[in-house]
Amino acid sequence: MQVLQGIAASPGVAIGEALIVGNEDIRIPRHFVMRDTVEREVQRLHRAMNVVEDEMTRDRDAVTIKLGEQYGAIFAAHLQMLRDPKLRKELESLIRDRHYSAEYAVSSTLRRYAKVFQQLDSQYLAERSHDLFDLEKGLLRGLAGRQREHLMNLSSPAVILAKNLTPSETAKLDRQFVRAIVTEVGGASSHTAIVAKGQEIPAVVGTGCFLADVSGGDIVIVDGEQGKVIVRPDKETLERYQATLETQRSTARHLATLRDLPAETADGVRIQLTANIEFPYEVETCLARGADGVGLYRTEFLYLGMDCEPTEEQHFQAYSQVARAMQGRPVTIRTLDLGADKMGLLPKQGEEDNPFLGLRSIRLSLRNVASFRVQLRAILRASVGRNLRLMFPMIATLNELRKAKMVLNDAREDLEDEGVDFDRDIPIGMMVETPAAVLMLDKFIREVDFISIGTNDLTQYTLAVDRGNREVADLYRPSDPAVLRLIDHCVRTANQENVPASVCGEMSGSLKYAMLLIGMGLRSLSVSPATVPEVKQLIRNVTLEQCQTVARRVLTMEDANEVDAFLREEIKRTTPELVFG
Ligand code: PEP
Ligand code: MG
Repeated sequence: MQVLQGIAASPGVAIGEALIVGNEDIRIPRHFVMRDTVEREVQRLHRAMNVVEDEMTRDRDAVTIKLGEQYGAIFAAHLQMLRDPKLRKELESLIRDRHYSAEYAVSSTLRRYAKVFQQLDSQYLAERSHDLFDLEKGLLRGLAGRQREHLMNLSSPAVILAKNLTPSETAKLDRQFVRAIVTEVGGASSHTAIVAKGQEIPAVVGTGCFLADVSGGDIVIVDGEQGKVIVRPDKETLERYQATLETQRSTARHLATLRDLPAETADGVRIQLTANIEFPYEVETCLARGADGVGLYRTEFLYLGMDCEPTEEQHFQAYSQVARAMQGRPVTIRTLDLGADKMGLLPKQGEEDNPFLGLRSIRLSLRNVASFRVQLRAILRASVGRNLRLMFPMIATLNELRKAKMVLNDAREDLEDEGVDFDRDIPIGMMVETPAAVLMLDKFIREVDFISIGTNDLTQYTLAVDRGNREVADLYRPSDPAVLRLIDHCVRTANQENVPASVCGEMSGSLKYAMLLIGMGLRSLSVSPATVPEVKQLIRNVTLEQCQTVARRVLTMEDANEVDAFLREEIKRTTPELVFG
């Protein structure tokens, strides 16, 4: 048995036989060709480039139909590189002048580009280097005259193990047969991870080298919750995970019956239970799981997979699709929260030492007003006849909020002048995710229609702990009394002023914290779509009084460990059916 620790990239547990996707296709048969065969070699290169271009165009169309335009756009980047006349010229001259074989020219050139990307010290560009490897693979296969082995055409269930899967390979996986994916490289914010999540395929990435120790057909357990991969598990481990799978399946069957029931406490207090989404197609999961609406639409994901900024029409289509699908349920669209760990195409002023404290989120939008206005126009246009709300992220000062509202007003005026319709009463809200916003909330609250507490960032900024840094992960605790006091202050201030407040950080989707948050006075929680049923079940199991008792008790505690231990016991007591292991 071999246990590997990687990065949990897409939740869920899966057990299956290993299918190793190796790099055997990348084989260079020979490095040089004879002088008198160079023209033939150039022709061979052209033919391969044409074949790959056709193949990619077909893939782009197929993926666009299957998963939507953003995913199709992943191929646009590949196609653009492939069609770049500079690349073609460079390859031709390596063959003509240096007598490189077509394979060697392709491989050496694309790998050199990839290396430059990797060395640029930008996570976004480093991840884009995978697109170049993807292109290299495609061209080498084209030159070998071999049909691409379609991972899409699997005929039996498998756990895919690879050094790396490109986003395009991941987007084409056949959900019916792919139990899970594991890659040696990659990060949680890579396209591959995002696409896996979108397809609800459990995934662990960044395990480090291990493929040499696995054989095709080995039994592999993938624990996408803990980021663990177990190869050739012993009998006891296998039985334990099989039991977990079985329990999860039967719990899921039971939870599915809650879809049309309200998220209401046992004594009849209605909680608005909405979902957080990154991509428009996730609305299907929101509806299937019985969410009351979309509490947070992270629109910056629209930028991932695009090789240029989305147009107003692309923004508009995405927002309209979500609003239409949610059939009148409220949808909160958050304006761009790019930067820090979510890189996009907006220009940054060079590299930053502390990107989470740098030019991110609303700061970036206010620096790029033209792009910001494009998005605001699209949201306003999509609001006609829909239940949309607009929210600004990471507000730290009143000045920022006012500036953002000014840009919004300009966008409104432009639309008025153009005679374009929009919802003039669209509610405007802000994320409360900086301690500064909490401390000044009595002022902010007069200038917004609602607030949403972003506990992911509020925790990192309160405790000075980077939310993505493994080294300090043990210090990152939303249950720290300092964070809880800030949340409590927000809820009291908002309730006093009758301004609706919600929590949309990961904390709200954790069963452990739901009772506490409701007890503090929150009546709206926004969680990941897959978590909606569990949280609903918990809410239906408890009374408001129980939640209030929990909150009173917890707010006297001095330490996150004490809070967590107490809340764990409360869950075991009130909702034992959802406690695994
Ligand atoms: C948060 O910070 O809690 C939040 C919901 O925003 P994000 O996770 O996108 O930063
Ligand atoms: Mg945030």
